[in-house]
Amino acid sequence: MSRPVPLIVGGGPAGAAAAIHLLRSGVQPIVIERRAEPGDALCGGFISWKTLEQLEALGLSGRVLGGHEVTTLHLFSGRSVYAVALPGRAMALSRRRLDSLLLARAREMGAFVRHDTAAYVDGLVRLGNGELLASDSLFIATGKHDLHGLPRPREAAGSDPLLGLRLRLPPSPERAALLANHIEIHLFPGGYLGAVLQEDGSANFCMAVRKSRLAAAGGQPAALFAELAQDSHFLAERLAGMPASPCVDAVGHIPYGWRARSSAPGIFRLGDQAGVIASLAGEGIGIALASAESAVQFWRRGGGAAAPDFQRAFARKLRRPLAAAGLIAALGRHPVAATLPLALLSATPGAAGIIARMTRI
Ligand SMILES: Cc1cc2nc3c(=O)[nH]c(=O)nc-3n(C[C@H](O)[C@H](O)[C@H](O)COP(=O)(O)OP(=O)(O)OC[C@H]3O[C@@H](n4cnc5c(N)ncnc54)[C@H](O)[C@@H]3O)c2cc1C
Repeated sequence: MSRPVPLIVGGGPAGAAAAIHLLRSGVQPIVIERRAEPGDALCGGFISWKTLEQLEALGLSGRVLGGHEVTTLHLFSGRSVYAVALPGRAMALSRRRLDSLLLARAREMGAFVRHDTAAYVDGLVRLGNGELLASDSLFIATGKHDLHGLPRPREAAGSDPLLGLRLRLPPSPERAALLANHIEIHLFPGGYLGAVLQEDGSANFCMAVRKSRLAAAGGQPAALFAELAQDSHFLAERLAGMPASPCVDAVGHIPYGWRARSSAPGIFRLGDQAGVIASLAGEGIGIALASAESAVQFWRRGGGAAAPDFQRAFARKLRRPLAAAGLIAALGRHPVAATLPLALLSATPGAAGIIARMTRI
């Protein structure tokens, strides 16, 4: 008897990678992605040296990706700047480009991609047009957004949740000079902000911030960016030319540190649906790709029935990187407490490599 076709909901990095792995196993999955045009997920766009290897294994070389090369991390805390060499060559890339390339790769290998919004109702996947799809293997790769009918636990976000905000500024010679070949993390009380150049020379400013900190800026994301620029001349330089009412993307209630420890048979949670690492680690995409590979390995051995074993095993794999990244991020939101560790980090050769390895999947 032939197996029902696996369904993948979400065509971001986790969903597209799962499709590629299934296709390599000789199975043609259906991918349901709600956006007809690849979106530009709110993300810092940092692709680590390890994620680059994962992408290469999926058939996307660094040359094809074509991002902005990143070799160093610059940490800004108050008036101090600490430069730390990264353990390997990294890249910054817009999610529009990364997601388009990954989904195109899955498609050219034979994935059947349907553009619709899925929900889960009585054990079936319901599409926006009312059509019902059945499968014994559902791969949930909806990222930050929960699949209606199968959400992650709400309490995971805590009482003063972290929000993600992103502002993009067009290419300028000044920013190109300020941000060339490195990624920056600016620490401030209640959050941190990453700044990096993308493949087209535009600059991505992406922050994770406590809801209470945004509320202190009147609840207005643009006002928060302006306040941060007032408090730091480094940020003022980088944000120069920011329009008075810039377009700021936002995502709420990010459950950093949460991981799915169990699952029902037939339900594989991938990417941000499997676990959410503090964004400062720049490892979310790596986790998305690793979860897809691991889930398909389990699926090949035991079909949909292997989902609970996959979820438990992947949760164990996530424990150390999530804990390490959570600790570093908590320190980062308290710049005064971070001063000594930052000074030690930049003065100790090899320390950055150890920390980087601790936060990789
Ligand atoms: C502020 C911030 C900065 C970050 N910076 C970085 C970074 O620099 N580097 C890094 O590696 N990671 C970073 N991350 C993490 C990274 O963005 C995520 O971990 C990664 O996008 C997870 O991939 P995914 O495939 O699980 O989900 P997503 O990338 O969110 O993709 C989910 C896909 O599912 C689709 N979808 C959702 N719901 C439905 C539905 N019901 N039906 C059909 N389709 C649906 C969406 O349209 C989307 O295409 C950051 C996160 C935040 C919040």
